[in-house]
Amino acid sequence: MYTIGLTGGIASGKSTVSAMLAQLGAVIVDTDKIAREIVEPGQPAWQDIVAAFGEGCLLPGGYLNRKMLGDLIFSDKNKRRLLDEITHPYIQNTAQQALDAAERQGAKVAVLDAPLLIEVGWQFMVQAVWVVYVDAQKQVSRLMQRDKISCSQALDRIGSQMSLRDKLSYADVVIDNNKELAATRQQVIIAWQGIAANQ
Ligand code: ATP
Repeated sequence: MYTIGLTGGIASGKSTVSAMLAQLGAVIVDTDKIAREIVEPGQPAWQDIVAAFGEGCLLPGGYLNRKMLGDLIFSDKNKRRLLDEITHPYIQNTAQQALDAAERQGAKVAVLDAPLLIEVGWQFMVQAVWVVYVDAQKQVSRLMQRDKISCSQALDRIGSQMSLRDKLSYADVVIDNNKELAATRQQVIIAWQGIAANQ
């Protein structure tokens, strides 16, 4: 099985490209979805978080208080590191299990959809890194429109991440998502055909 590591910046178009790859027949392993599942009440990662951060990080019903945790790690780097150290191994293991299951079921191509692929160092899990790229201006305007936020809020969110330009240097394939969707789809199809040709 050939595994693509799909990454990019916030609102650069990862989900859009991931949906195109799914249409072409790829199995998608979504690390954002896994990140939400592993912290559901009672899960091992949830238990570790409660042990590290205390029951004060829970809402009635046992769900994590994401807003509180988000504010906490935004203002305290050590707390962010601690939360990452707890969650990343669980996300990695669960994603690897999903990839292994896809391979056992005969999938030819899988996509590890991972916004933090490069920051966390999950390149070893994939055969090629695909970066979905947009210009800074477009990234801001699409983010503002999608999340109904102001320009300064969008800039804050973008600024808290590794720059999309820096991610380009890790890319085996760059999908330029600046133009209309048809132009993006065309690039995805060409890159997809490149995989088939090399297998
Ligand atoms: P996040 O990391 O925040 O989940 P993402 O990288 O998955 O974002 P998308 O949700 O795919 O990004 O795209 C961001 C927004 O831009 C969405 O509203 C999407 O519909 C829109 N969008 C994506 N690609 C294009 C395009 N080529 N032309 C116009 N709009 C686009």
